[in-house]
Amino acid sequence: MINVAIDGPAGAGKSTVAKAAAKKLGFIYVDTGALYRAIALNAVNNGVIDDNNKIIKMLENTDIKLTFDENGTQCVILNGEDVSSLIRTPEISMGASNVSKIPEVRAFLLELQRDIARNNNVIMDGRDIGSVVLPNADIKIFLTASAECRAKRRYDELVLKGENVTYEEVLDDVNKRDYQDSHREIAPMKPTDDAVIADNTGMTVEEGTELIINIINS
Ligand code: C5P
Repeated sequence: MINVAIDGPAGAGKSTVAKAAAKKLGFIYVDTGALYRAIALNAVNNGVIDDNNKIIKMLENTDIKLTFDENGTQCVILNGEDVSSLIRTPEISMGASNVSKIPEVRAFLLELQRDIARNNNVIMDGRDIGSVVLPNADIKIFLTASAECRAKRRYDELVLKGENVTYEEVLDDVNKRDYQDSHREIAPMKPTDDAVIADNTGMTVEEGTELIINIINS
C-alpha cells in the first residue's frame, strides 16, 4: 500500500488539493480532522464540551466510522448517524481543536486511522499524520499557506454555505487554532525532518494539486 501523509495548518487547502490529487491517482482521501470534529460534535450534543473528564468518559459510548462512496467521498458516521455536514461549523472547528489536546481522544482515534492506511492506498490529511499516525509513510508533505490566504479561503467556503461570519473573525479563528495546534503538548503540528514543505499561497486549486502530485511522483 502507498501511504501519503499531508499535514499542515487549518485552511492550507489540504482537503481540496489532497482530494483532487487522490482522485487523479486512484487513492482514497482520508480527512482525519473530521474524526476530531465528530468527537467535538458528540461532546456538544452531550453538553460536556467544557469538561475533559466527561469527554474521556463519553468515548466509551462513542462509535465513529469513516465510509467512502464510489467517488471516494468520505462520510463520517457518529453512533450510526451521518454527521458529515453537521461537523462543518466554526463552533465545531474550535471544539475539535479543544478535544484534540486530550491524549485519550488522540489514542482513541489512532488505530482507526492506521487501519485505513494499512488496507488502502491513501492520501491522509491532518496535523500529526507524518509524525505520529503514519511515521513510515512513503511520502510526507507539509502543506501550508499564509494565514491571510488561509483565512480568505475558509471565509469564502463558510459564506458560500450561508454562515454569518466576517473575514476578521475567521482570521482570528485561524490564528488561534494554529497557535493551539502547534503548541499543544501531545502531537503538536510541526513538519517532520523528512517532510517536503509545500507552500501554496496564492495558488489555484489546479496549481496546488499539481504541486502535490509532482511531489508524490518525484
Ligand atoms: O483539519 P480540520 O480543520 O478539520 O481539523 C480540526 C481540528 O482537529 C484541528 O484544528 C486540530 O486541532 C485537530 N486535528 C488534529 N490532528 C489531526 C487532524 C485534526 O489534532 N490529524
